[in-house]
Amino acid sequence: MTLDVAWATRWMLLTREAVAANREYLIDLDRQIGDGDHGENLDRGFSQVVSVLEERPCGSVQDVLKVVAKTLMSTVGGAAGPLYGTAFLRAAKACALEPVNAEGVAALILAALEGIQARGKAERGEKTMVDAWGPASDAAAKAASEGADEIAVLEAAAAAAAEGAAATEPMKATKGRASYLGERSIGHLDPGAMSSSIILAKALEAAKKA
Ligand code: ADP
Ligand code: MG
Repeated sequence: MTLDVAWATRWMLLTREAVAANREYLIDLDRQIGDGDHGENLDRGFSQVVSVLEERPCGSVQDVLKVVAKTLMSTVGGAAGPLYGTAFLRAAKACALEPVNAEGVAALILAALEGIQARGKAERGEKTMVDAWGPASDAAAKAASEGADEIAVLEAAAAAAAEGAAATEPMKATKGRASYLGERSIGHLDPGAMSSSIILAKALEAAKKA
């Protein structure tokens, strides 16, 4: 399909469903190395995103992503609210061209990564959501430069995000709440990297369905 406003809206509907389905799982991950609120916070945030989109349908991908940014900033709280808020705001600015093509997908993901890093100052390997978005951005850029279409770029990004999230398990957290645990953060998946991988998987699923 073409990555237009219907895609972006469907992306958020699917993300909301997946976050709700993984609410307890994300709470559990966050309980192990944080305070246990990640699943609850995201469930509230993405439910509100969908309510806002249903009340006032958007006219462009950019508008959808701006609504997502604003809504997550005001409803999610914790570390993840401002981080995802900034990610989606930067992503919105990166997709003025619609429908979003292969290069546009890569630009959107890179912008989100840069937003997260501008806000949270984490580098790769610090056991945060950067460890999902970083590899996703690299994979998307590589696929786009090799001539992949937008679906294949999303496929590459989603796969890399899932691998990146899995790779946080042996890492020691040096940013965010999990860093308070030091060595004891080793051996657990990072909740934010996992939720990021879910979000990117749904971007792909929405593109395949629509
Ligand atoms: P809090 O830690 O305030 O309870 P959440 O539980 O909502 O926030 O989110 C925790 C997630 O936020 C972590 O799993 C991690 O992925 C991400 N995170 C925390 N600090 C940073 C940071 N400085 N940069 C990037 N991501 C971060
Ligand atoms: Mg938390």
